[in-house]
Amino acid sequence: MLLYSIVASRMKGISILGSTGSIGCNTLKVIEHLNEFRVVALGAGRNMEKFAEQIVRFAPEMVSCEDDDCAEMLLNELNRSNVRPPRIETGEKGLVEVATHAEAHTVVSATVGAIGFVPTLRAIEAGKRIALANKETLVIAGELMTKAARKSGAEILPVDSEHNALHQCLRGERRSEVKRLILTASGGPFRTNSREEIENATIAEALNHPNWKMGDKITIDSATLMNKGLEVIEAKWLFGFEADQISVVVHPQSVVHSMIEMVDGSIIAQLGVTDMKHAIQYALTYPERKTGCLEPLDFMALNQLTFEEPDIERFPCLDLAYKALAKGGTTPAALNAANEISVQAFLDGKIKLSDIGRINEAVMNGHKTEQASDLESILSADINARESAISLLGGSSACLAQQV
Ligand code: MG
Repeated sequence: MLLYSIVASRMKGISILGSTGSIGCNTLKVIEHLNEFRVVALGAGRNMEKFAEQIVRFAPEMVSCEDDDCAEMLLNELNRSNVRPPRIETGEKGLVEVATHAEAHTVVSATVGAIGFVPTLRAIEAGKRIALANKETLVIAGELMTKAARKSGAEILPVDSEHNALHQCLRGERRSEVKRLILTASGGPFRTNSREEIENATIAEALNHPNWKMGDKITIDSATLMNKGLEVIEAKWLFGFEADQISVVVHPQSVVHSMIEMVDGSIIAQLGVTDMKHAIQYALTYPERKTGCLEPLDFMALNQLTFEEPDIERFPCLDLAYKALAKGGTTPAALNAANEISVQAFLDGKIKLSDIGRINEAVMNGHKTEQASDLESILSADINARESAISLLGGSSACLAQQV
């Protein structure tokens, strides 16, 4: 027992925001594989059955769930397992506690959407290492986040596969010798479909991503290419490149995760299997590399690698993101908020897939751009954009629950 305590105390503490989601579950698998992290705090939404299993397995000191009802469900689940419950907190306050836990060296930010924004900012201010999967955080408030990271010394390691690839490609390169970043996009399930077919796509078709198994929100974003647009904005803030130095190329096989072009014309790419555990492990162990838990890429099994120009006529959301970047300030936050509402409305069967782009564009065009240098202006842009999107949907108020 004493030996175990000594070993445990030498392990790095880790907190996960969004532990029951796809990235959260994969992170816990990587932690089991690496055997050098101790889970000190976990935050989840409403899936209390899975959350209880994780708490039993990883014994965090404190946890947070969405609200008091969830906390009660969680206690019931834990009582059934005869496990002494950890300290349970709720809501954004609870997520902030998870994100700033004194013993957390690394914080994995993997909640979906804007809800992870404030807790991630607090973790950055506290100087934690951030393994960032929640791209919305940088889309909404890239300037604020990167400024806070410079001040506290917090390191932000991207978990998003494209940005993780770019991080690997940029290692050791002189910034002045890099001409542009090239993000790859799978093209989603409707890459070869006509405008009409995309207009009338069903929810099941949109959720059927050809290469990646992910949560619902990001899968719909991949189907509209909004995900790639958000990733362009994310890349600007992570790596400090301007929009005209960030390109997107459609690569249906998702084997090349992204590339950089050097001034001499040389291209450096990162390739790998389509499994997020690689990017998660890289972010957790950087600057070291440890033996991975995945089979390496089998070149002989690859049929071909192909590349295409993205079609912004059929996928206007990608273009909206470039326009939001050009406008700057609070505009990306407004676009992101509108998108969260419109994607949820599509998943609820209220609108067509193509309406997502229409609503996002209308909200963005109606948004009055302000400077995005403080929390209040960003939060107010977010709320106003959600309200505009909801009024375009015909006043459904259920989506307001998603507010920051
Ligand atoms: Mg990605």
